[in-house]
Amino acid sequence: MTRHQTLLSRKLMLKFFAMLVLVCFGPLIAPPTHVIAEKGSPYSAKAPDFRALGGGAVNLVDHDNGKIIVTSDYWRLEFDPHRGGVLDSIVFLQGSGKNLLVRPFQTYVDGWSDENCPNVNVHSSRQDNIVRLSISGQLSTSDGKPGPVAFQTTWTLSPFVIRADHKLLFSQGLAVSSVGIGSTAIRPELSDFGLRIASPMDDPDPRKMARATFGKAKRSGSTLIQQYRTPNTLFFFDKGVEGFDLMTASDLAAWETGLTGRSGVGNFTAKVADDGASIQIVREPLHLLQPAMVAQGEYSFAYYIGLPRIVKNANRDFRHIAIGSEPWVSDAEIKRWADSGVNIVRLHDDYNEDGKFWHDGDWPPYDEKGMAEVRRIIATCHRYKIRVVPYFSIYEFHPQAAGFHDHEQEWRRTFDEMGTPIHNRVENGEFGEQMCPQSGWLERRKRDVERAYRELGFDGVYYDWVVSLSCNNKNHSAGLHLGSDGVIDLLAWTRRLIGPNGILIVHQYGLMQSITFENFADLVVNMEEHSHSTSLLKVDDIPTVTLLAESLPRSPCPPYEKNNLEERYKNNIAQLVLLGMFPWSVPTEGAGYDATLELFRKFKPYNLSEYHLDNAFSGVVHTAWDGVRGAVYVKKNQALVVISNTDSEPRKHVVWTIKPDRLDFTSRTSKITVKDVQSGMVQTIPLTGLADGSLATQLKGYEYRLFEIRPGP
Ligand SMILES: [Zn+2]
Repeated sequence: MTRHQTLLSRKLMLKFFAMLVLVCFGPLIAPPTHVIAEKGSPYSAKAPDFRALGGGAVNLVDHDNGKIIVTSDYWRLEFDPHRGGVLDSIVFLQGSGKNLLVRPFQTYVDGWSDENCPNVNVHSSRQDNIVRLSISGQLSTSDGKPGPVAFQTTWTLSPFVIRADHKLLFSQGLAVSSVGIGSTAIRPELSDFGLRIASPMDDPDPRKMARATFGKAKRSGSTLIQQYRTPNTLFFFDKGVEGFDLMTASDLAAWETGLTGRSGVGNFTAKVADDGASIQIVREPLHLLQPAMVAQGEYSFAYYIGLPRIVKNANRDFRHIAIGSEPWVSDAEIKRWADSGVNIVRLHDDYNEDGKFWHDGDWPPYDEKGMAEVRRIIATCHRYKIRVVPYFSIYEFHPQAAGFHDHEQEWRRTFDEMGTPIHNRVENGEFGEQMCPQSGWLERRKRDVERAYRELGFDGVYYDWVVSLSCNNKNHSAGLHLGSDGVIDLLAWTRRLIGPNGILIVHQYGLMQSITFENFADLVVNMEEHSHSTSLLKVDDIPTVTLLAESLPRSPCPPYEKNNLEERYKNNIAQLVLLGMFPWSVPTEGAGYDATLELFRKFKPYNLSEYHLDNAFSGVVHTAWDGVRGAVYVKKNQALVVISNTDSEPRKHVVWTIKPDRLDFTSRTSKITVKDVQSGMVQTIPLTGLADGSLATQLKGYEYRLFEIRPGP
């Protein structure tokens, strides 16, 4: 074990601890400030600039039945102007093909609803890959009679982002019991659910990171989620098929206290209907038994619907390695990467005990010798067609970086009434203090990223801390706010900076995930929440939201727990190879790093962007051993089968089968060839041999083998 190995390994582990465990600051939270919504909320004026390259087109279609249809390469949404312009259909083109919604998104004040409004004004526009729909009318009773509350709903839709801005205009003060914003009901198959709370008051975490909880709906009538305060995010997924999340936009105070000045008077629930035919999602910022007065005026509520970019074939052609600084990686090692198929490297140097590291916000990050090393590494990687991206944290600002002391109080994220700073400490140092993306920090961060990108000729950017967190710093807003808008603004800006060929890697901590955020990425680094675990990762334990469907490629974090490190690595790979996920590693991890490069080498000959994956949960490949699982990559006239032993126990005789109808052979063929890629041995067997038990192999503990299937001679 080299010095570097020790340091980098510890850095990884410490990074994790910094994320989760450290730091308990300040007293408990004081009661929330009362904020009355006012005209021209600062956030509606500062809605993110969604323009971003890539992601394909968005189209606006007026259908002959009067529906307004917006499509992207991934989904099709329908709005009904005869029913208040409500969103009543969400269909993933490469999902089940069925409408997710059993009831439309509905906005209402007591018995008056937008869905009941027979006549609305609709204004639509499209610019580049952004469609805007503005719908206005009068909330109405079920027989179509208009009430005293008008509504203006603005949808902003891009391949990455779907944002809803709801404005309610009370022409007079009213005593009301319930106000709902985008309540809906979805198909019961979307039974994997999750919740991230938003209010620091309800969050036991000392740093108020609002970690998600996930569950699975099982019984009719059961309540899945019940909250009195506005959540940060709700998740609903049908595992491996489709789903969505709902993330509150930055102006949390508008939801939480905007209507009456009182907090905790809402009703945010998800419940399986008594007949089991739907999951009802209620989002009510106001829900009271005794009506409360809502004054005349305008009230705004904004949120994002995160629709994953589900495609036929995910582009899994990313093989990713991370490096630190001293000792700098050698040219010989970079050549070894190229031979193994590594195609993306990230310079991740956010802490070192000796103080020599890239302090977040600092420039230049190294002395002249260090800068020369960075330039050498980038140039050598480029010669081998390996792309290089730098690490940036969206929230962390290191106190040694220029400008820190001038702006610390102004920009920092706070969650208590004392404005206590939140330092992400590690050993005797720190990664940095948390800043809020709803402050001047956002523009500062853009300048930092742009300078590094342009001056060093990086190929893109890697972002850590891609997360929406609450903040109550009054320098940013009078009320409680979330980082949602600022993070989106930064991600879209980054896509514009790096252009269509640039690489954006987004770190998604599984318990603070956002579909909208990850949509901007080319590659998602994920599953860090598993890295510390003392138990071995198992394929069945991987959360739905982390896995998703055929969408963005995912590169899971390595184990940080160093006990039995080699086994942990091999175990992880044996599980993840069945899901089309290629974990990253660092050159200092010994046998774990070697196992990662071996995985990359085995898949290097195949352009995985051309294949559709039926993963371990698809049931397409089967073995008789519980612990030996299979997956298959399919393209025209070729299939690549992965058989993996997810246990440590060797299996001498593994009979495996595959459903022949899932292959994509263009002509009817009676014979096929099966090549064991490891041994090179080729068998020619009848097509029926795929399913009759003719195929067998043997596997050591955690071993996985590849088999190519082609039409026979
Ligand atoms: Zn803030």
